[in-house]
Amino acid sequence: MRQALPPKNPISRRSKTPGPQDPTTSRPQDLTPSRPRDLKTRRRPFLEFEEPDKMRKMNHEQIDMLVSAASEARKNAHAPYSGYCVGAAVLTTDGRIFVGCNVENASYGLSVCAERHAIAAAVSAGCRKFAGVAVVTQSDPPAAPCGACRQVLAEFGDFPVILAGLDGSSQTTTVRDLLPNAFDAEALAEASDNKSGRTS
Ligand SMILES: [Zn+2]
Repeated sequence: MRQALPPKNPISRRSKTPGPQDPTTSRPQDLTPSRPRDLKTRRRPFLEFEEPDKMRKMNHEQIDMLVSAASEARKNAHAPYSGYCVGAAVLTTDGRIFVGCNVENASYGLSVCAERHAIAAAVSAGCRKFAGVAVVTQSDPPAAPCGACRQVLAEFGDFPVILAGLDGSSQTTTVRDLLPNAFDAEALAEASDNKSGRTS
């Protein structure tokens, strides 16, 4: 066992207009405020996270930016069959944002989710360390990633997952809470070790 069981209620909720006393709205101090280079309206620059391999929290500014990017990507969704449009945006540990939308196909099984497209865009640009992902859906409450996307997200570690609705409300969970005991490289390595043990 390499991880603890998930908490009973891993998803924390965030209202559209949080109050100052809401404990879920307190801004974590473990991040340096930052921004991507192309967002010139932001005053403070995005900087690399000090501990890129450590689980971290996003501040409100980062969450809002990520949700906004996912919401914009959702507008490009190709969902003529289900009518269910999804947008996703991933924030890399060096402050870059990559987006994706769901792309359906007349051959239904070829349809690909927004989350996987966002991850693929980031990886294609050389980014494999993520600080968070936002997923915007029309569901109320906002829908969580499907099982396949959870597995793809888990490939790159544990980080916050923001589930947002069209009204601006959001809930926060994590990759590990969504997919505990994910199949990963460690499992493959153990299998390889076991195989070596039998043949040596
Ligand atoms: Zn999916």
